[in-house]
Amino acid sequence: MNYDLTIIVPVYNEEDNMPALEERLGKFLPTCKCSACVLFVDDGSKDKSLPLIKDICARNKDFYYISFAQNRGLSAAMKAGIDHATSPYVGYIDADLQTAPEDFNLLVDYIKDYPLVMGIRANRKDTGFKKLQSKIANGFRRMMTHDGVQDTGCPLKIMHTDYAKRVPFFTGMHRFLPALILLQDGGKVKQVPVRHFPRTAGVSKYHLWNRLVAPFMDCFAYRWMKKRYINYTIADQNLK
Ligand code: UDP
Ligand code: MG
Repeated sequence: MNYDLTIIVPVYNEEDNMPALEERLGKFLPTCKCSACVLFVDDGSKDKSLPLIKDICARNKDFYYISFAQNRGLSAAMKAGIDHATSPYVGYIDADLQTAPEDFNLLVDYIKDYPLVMGIRANRKDTGFKKLQSKIANGFRRMMTHDGVQDTGCPLKIMHTDYAKRVPFFTGMHRFLPALILLQDGGKVKQVPVRHFPRTAGVSKYHLWNRLVAPFMDCFAYRWMKKRYINYTIADQNLK
């Protein structure tokens, strides 16, 4: 396990997306600007996703997986991926491939200088209703967190693993990643336009309620956390 980048792919009931994931990620890895591997995190899928993931990992090098005993949600899947990553950088892409693995290379260009480099979905290919929900959520969250981020939910991100491991995790955290990275000393976020595609297989797991209401409450939790967040610098030590 000696990679620069671990690409985390959260998977919950995505059996119809597994063939495309194998092909697209398999093609991308050798062209990635840094040495990269894929880490599937099966979030307790009830369809055939897990056996398909195991097959993919058995016939391809640089593909790994962990699987949950029960469904725990996207934030938990991302946390597990980050907890298990040993490379200096971690990436994240959704299993529905609404963003292109090839566009990781656009993010890699900035990763030395920014603890988080993330996409902005240009020409977003979602329904008008979903885009409206996203616009409201992004606007309110930006007002509450001052993170200055245009598209928090963009499923194409690369982070410094040490910063990612220090993020306070909670259900819904995945919507606050940039704001949570910014809490840390040296936290900076670079946003880069990336391509976006319609979901062509499987179904979306999020809807109006879990996209708007809980995240609305989380904004207040973030404000509290921002006031209380602990940063420290070690001045001296004799540990070895
Ligand atoms: N996902 C997950 N656990 C869940 C719900 C979703 O790991 O409980 C994964 C899902 O398989 C996908 C990503 O999180 O890779 C984003 O989910 P989805 O595409 O359904 O959300 P949307 O893009 O519609 O907000
Ligand atoms: Mg999606």
